[in-house]
Amino acid sequence: MQVRYSYLKEQFKDSEEIFKGLRDQLTRCEFTFGPELTEFENKFARLIGTKYAIGVASGTDALFLSMKALGIGPGDEVITTPSTFIATVGAIVATGAKPVFVDSDEEFNIDPGLIERAITPRTKALLAVHYTGGPADMPRIMDIARRYNLPVVEDACQSIQAAIDGKSCGTFGVSAGFSLHPLKNLNVWGDGGIVVTSSKEIYDKIILLRNHGLRGRDEIEIFGYNSRLDTIQAIVGNYLIKQVDWITSKRIENAKIYDDALKRLNEYIKLPPRRKGVKHVYHLYMFQAKERDKLLDYLIKNGIEAKVHYPIPLHLQNAVKGLGYKKGNFPVYEAQCKSIITLPVHQHLKNEEINYVIEKVRGFYLNGKKLSRQRKIYAGKIS
Ligand SMILES: *Cc1c(COP(=O)(O)O)cnc(C)c1O
Repeated sequence: MQVRYSYLKEQFKDSEEIFKGLRDQLTRCEFTFGPELTEFENKFARLIGTKYAIGVASGTDALFLSMKALGIGPGDEVITTPSTFIATVGAIVATGAKPVFVDSDEEFNIDPGLIERAITPRTKALLAVHYTGGPADMPRIMDIARRYNLPVVEDACQSIQAAIDGKSCGTFGVSAGFSLHPLKNLNVWGDGGIVVTSSKEIYDKIILLRNHGLRGRDEIEIFGYNSRLDTIQAIVGNYLIKQVDWITSKRIENAKIYDDALKRLNEYIKLPPRRKGVKHVYHLYMFQAKERDKLLDYLIKNGIEAKVHYPIPLHLQNAVKGLGYKKGNFPVYEAQCKSIITLPVHQHLKNEEINYVIEKVRGFYLNGKKLSRQRKIYAGKIS
C-alpha cells in the first residue's frame, strides 16, 4: 500500500466551480483587486473572528507586513522560536530586525516560561508560532506581552481554525499571518497569504504596504511593496473556504485515531500533551519517537510517506549562523529535532491507510512482541 503525504490531486479532482469562476473573471479581467478578493477577505475575517483580513502574496509576507506595520526595523529585536519553518525567521530578518530565539515546550511551541529572560530594551515584538497546527500557549504569552507592553504577532500559517477555549488562533495578537500555500490546510493554486487584524490602524497600514503605498491611483503615501493576493487565487480560496470545516474536522478525526493507537506504544513514542480546551488542527501530525531514523526508513520502505520537520536545528543552519547561536543553546528543541517524525494526516486519507500506518508503526517497535493488556485500535472500530 502507498500512503501519500500529498493529497492535492484528490482535492482538486472536481474543480468545475473554480473553472467557472475563472472563466467568469476572464470576461472582466480584474486580475488584481477583483471583487472576489474582497469577498474572500470578508469570508476569511468572519471565519477567524477578526474585523479585517488583507490578502497578500504569501504567508511570509503576511508576517513581514505585520511587522512593518508595527514599525519594526533595524536595531530592533523580535522574540520567536527556532521550532518553526524558516519563513518565520526570514520575515523578521527581512524587516532588518534581529530574531531572538526561545527554546520550545513539549508541544513544539515557544516555551512561555523562557520568554521573559529573552526580553531586552531592544525587544519590539513577540512573534508566536502555532506550530504543526497546535496553538502556542497564548494566555501566558499575552500576559507577558501586556506586562512588558509588547505587541504580539501570530504566525498562524499552519493553524487555520485552531483555537484555545473557543478563541481562534489569529485573534490573540495585534495581527496574524496565514499562508495559502498548496501545502497548507486551506490552500490555493500557488502562493498566497492573508493577514488578519481587528486594529483599524494596522489594517490601514497594511492596505498601503501591500500595494506600493498607493492611496488610490495617484497619491503615494509611503514606500510599500508589491504583495497582493491575485484575484484568481481568491477565486480558489472562495471555493475552498467552504470546505475548511470539513478539512479541519477530518484531520482532527484522523489524529484522534492515531493518538488512541499510538498512546499504547508509550514506551517508544511520546505524543505531545493534548491540553484540554485546545483545538489542534493537525497541519502536521508530529510526535517524538525512539530510533526515529530507523522508523522513518522502515515506514518509507513500506510505502508510507512519513517525514521529518525538520532534522537540522534551524539555529544551526548556514543561513542562521550569523545570529551567533550554538549547539546546546536550545536543548529541548535540539532533542526534538533528533526524535520527531510526521505521519500523513490529511483529509483524504482512507481508514485502510490510517490502519496500515498504525500497523507498520506497531510492527516496527513490537516486531511480534505483545503489549500488556493491549487492544488493537483501528480507524472507525475497536476490535
Ligand atoms: C508555510 C509557513 C510560513 C510561510 O508561508 P508561505 O506562504 O510559504 O510564505 C510561515 N510560517 C510557517 C510556520 C509556515 O508553516
